[in-house]
Amino acid sequence: MLSWEESQSISSMRRDRAWVEVDFGAIGHNIRAIKHLLSPHTDLMAVIKADAYGHGAVTVAQTALKAGAQWLGVATIPEGIELREAGITAPVQVLGATYTPEQLRAMVRWRLQPTLCTPKQALVFSESLSAADLSLPVHVKLDTGMSRLGAPWQAAAQFVQLVHRLPHLQLASVYSHLATADSPDPTMMHLQQERFERAIALIQGAGIELPRLHLANSAATLSDRALHYDMVRVGLGLYGLYPALHLRSRVDLKPALQVKARVTHVKDISAGTGVSYGHRFMADRDLRIAVIGIGYADGVPRNLSDRMQVLLRGHKVRQIGAITMDQMMIDVSRFPDLEPGEVVTLLGDDGKYSISADDWAETLGTISWEILCGFKHRLPRVAVGQPWECCESAAQS
Ligand SMILES: *Cc1c(COP(=O)(O)O)cnc(C)c1O
Repeated sequence: MLSWEESQSISSMRRDRAWVEVDFGAIGHNIRAIKHLLSPHTDLMAVIKADAYGHGAVTVAQTALKAGAQWLGVATIPEGIELREAGITAPVQVLGATYTPEQLRAMVRWRLQPTLCTPKQALVFSESLSAADLSLPVHVKLDTGMSRLGAPWQAAAQFVQLVHRLPHLQLASVYSHLATADSPDPTMMHLQQERFERAIALIQGAGIELPRLHLANSAATLSDRALHYDMVRVGLGLYGLYPALHLRSRVDLKPALQVKARVTHVKDISAGTGVSYGHRFMADRDLRIAVIGIGYADGVPRNLSDRMQVLLRGHKVRQIGAITMDQMMIDVSRFPDLEPGEVVTLLGDDGKYSISADDWAETLGTISWEILCGFKHRLPRVAVGQPWECCESAAQS
């Protein structure tokens, strides 16, 4: 494995065109801030699926664990294997669906803990495990209203009883997922919680000792302690974004990700000149424009063409013309001395301005989650600050 210094120097060589900067101090800060909301007996699962929402799964996992997270959540088996190959030993739950004996073998081999959604899946897994005389912790998922994964909550007792009876499955938790926790109207969330409570009562009524229970995503974690149970599963909040405006006052979060690119070419164009494919932008006066080395193949949505700004020398500068696969143009008329090599900020701060994933999401009519995990692997992830600096202060506090 590369040392921190080596990876820093490779990172700086890769900072020649465009990159994603990840502030691990911010991730540590966010975890500590979220942990302050939890009671001491509630665990924190750092949800690091989709390469930690674009921030880099292994480094985020290491940072999260050092800062006090106990569990890691991934969506797929390969995401879990990546953590194990990096030497991470913390418990890892696979939140996505798995159902084949091959997947089961991989999860046993790499000590990943599956989500169980159906009695059939429980039987298939139990049979494969008995053949090899192995056992595996499993997480029973109940559908309380998301209508995605999970057994109907009304069948909780029968399902949990089955899992309990099967000798090679260890019931590690019972959980559910909320569909509307980010809405200012809590009605549906409370209905889901009520169903979860009724499922718990059914399980207890069947004489089964309750395992670990969990329900909350970031939004529910920020909303209400009553939703925390034994563990919260936090994704978006770790990365410093708020799931909804009305939750901003609950906790102070710092965005961890910035997207930067370099000016690669500068030119003057005269009034009446079209810019980029389709000439959707026509200069209405003489302009100085700059090309920057980032495009939609890097994860900047093409639908932001002519609708986004970037930060340069502490100023907001407009992007002009269609965003192309690898490059886009900006209006730099106010900077006559601009040269290739200067850095522009697409997401992040520069001086008194900042542009967030929420700004892009609002323009595009989507959510910040989609913006964050949209950055492609062509953009190197560059760590800023000391990744463990968060942890010294965590140990002191
Ligand atoms: C992605 C996911 C989370 C995390 O959601 P955030 O809103 O990003 O906090 C929690 N639980 C499950 C089951 C998920 O799939």
